[in-house]
Amino acid sequence: MKTYRSMVLVSSDPQSMDLGAAMIYHKLNDEIKSFGMEDEISVTMVGDMGRHDALPIVVVYPEAVIYGPVKPVDVHYLVEEHLYKGRIAAGLQASARELSGRIAWISARKGTLPAEQRIVLERAGLIDPDSIEDYIVHDGYQTFGKVLSSLSPQQVIAEIEKSGLRGRGGAGFPTGAKWRFVAKAQGERKYVICNADESEPGTFKDRLVLEGDPHSIIEAMAIAGYAVGANEGYIYIRGEYLLAQERLKRAIQEATEYGILGANIFGSGFDFDIHIHTGAGAYICGEETALIESIEGKRGEPRPRPPYPTTNGLWNMPTLVNNVETLANIPAILRHGASWYRSIGTPSSPGTKVYTMLGNVNVTGLVEVPMGITLREVITIYAKGMRNGSSFKLAQTGGSSGSIIPASLQDTPMDFDSFMKAGVSLGSGALLICDEDTCVVDLARVLVNFFRNESCGKCNPCRIGTQRAYDILTNISEGTGQLRELDDLQILSEYLEKLSNCGLGQTAGAPLRDILKHFRAEVEAHIRLKVCPTGACAMSGKRI
Ligand code: SF4
Repeated sequence: MKTYRSMVLVSSDPQSMDLGAAMIYHKLNDEIKSFGMEDEISVTMVGDMGRHDALPIVVVYPEAVIYGPVKPVDVHYLVEEHLYKGRIAAGLQASARELSGRIAWISARKGTLPAEQRIVLERAGLIDPDSIEDYIVHDGYQTFGKVLSSLSPQQVIAEIEKSGLRGRGGAGFPTGAKWRFVAKAQGERKYVICNADESEPGTFKDRLVLEGDPHSIIEAMAIAGYAVGANEGYIYIRGEYLLAQERLKRAIQEATEYGILGANIFGSGFDFDIHIHTGAGAYICGEETALIESIEGKRGEPRPRPPYPTTNGLWNMPTLVNNVETLANIPAILRHGASWYRSIGTPSSPGTKVYTMLGNVNVTGLVEVPMGITLREVITIYAKGMRNGSSFKLAQTGGSSGSIIPASLQDTPMDFDSFMKAGVSLGSGALLICDEDTCVVDLARVLVNFFRNESCGKCNPCRIGTQRAYDILTNISEGTGQLRELDDLQILSEYLEKLSNCGLGQTAGAPLRDILKHFRAEVEAHIRLKVCPTGACAMSGKRI
């Protein structure tokens, strides 16, 4: 592989692309050529760099200088100053005050910010996602080679069990146990499915992995296939993730050309192929059995469980379904060992968690931190505090299906068990951070409306319950609510949780439960006083 004096990385997430990242990439190449430096400097479009306030971003290595937002008109100056004359292009650098995500990690090496701990996003934003060689140079496929040459399937599963990895899709089920169930299940064929249908509002962590490091998912799926005895894998990907689809297709093609996928991989006798299946935009297809129905060409509706996909999954065969973030941990665990993994995070939730930071904070974007960090730490250290000096009121975790967390819980360690004890859920990792101007009735109404629209309609509690909850919340926010309807909301939240067929309906009542538990006085003020204390909802003419 060729080496270069400098490497220039350009962010290429969809937002950067909308803001002209491709033009900047081409202009950088043209300018570098006009200075006669094309053999010394490489320019690469990498994935999302985890920072969304200074796009498009250009990072120059080996100095790790971060420029952003960069406009086409800045490129000549940047190339002349930094790459030709060897000095920082003054005025173009991204402000250190606003650094977060991958960029925070780069700065942390210089001691300016507390370090993130990157496992899942280890290479995202640093390597060329379209180059299998770049992946291999950065330890890629090393673990798969080690697994095939020196570990039995049982040893692989035992190591994953020992690591304590828990599913990052939201439920936190032990990954090793799931692998063991599939390995033990009897079936003519078995399958591995990567759930890349990331449709929780505000969640984009899986997209970043798929766009920035697609080979890591291919490697993890192949290892999973070897461990559970499957020879075929499917990546079920959200239809809107066009860039991720392109990169995955290319990565699968390259891996096949290199003999990393296909028949008799590395002469081991193990065969493994991966197919991509694109979703059509239904939120419910993120639920594993609905996803399986969708791959089978049927309407995406959840199946009653049991039986579980581990024994009766795709085409009724034993099937392992893992989320993107879960899979992205696998190569690192097997490369460094379960004890290393257990040294990160908390005893019952080892490892890291990727969060998307959104809402009324100074810095939005992605951050990967050890499990157990508190919400207050995420807000103060990585999100750089509340915007315009406002105060923190609540956070909504996990897209729609998480919990509404009041300020009193912001020092609770964010791990599966601590959150469960506090009666809240971690969800998929989106953190919508809201200030004192957020109306809880309007927030709950927006969330319930989402569930109402996305309900597949198969079971009554969800189909009718979400509509009834939405109607009551609309009444309250428009000043026509009745106090007795709060009892109805409470009952609805319980019925939704207990009687719904799948996770969508079971979590649809969470916003109702949470606002009544933590913000009842504010909800009652809408009914008793016909006033929204925050002035944000319909009765004051403003709606979020
Ligand atoms: Fe469909 Fe909702 Fe029932 Fe799930 S709970 S099966 S989404 S109607």
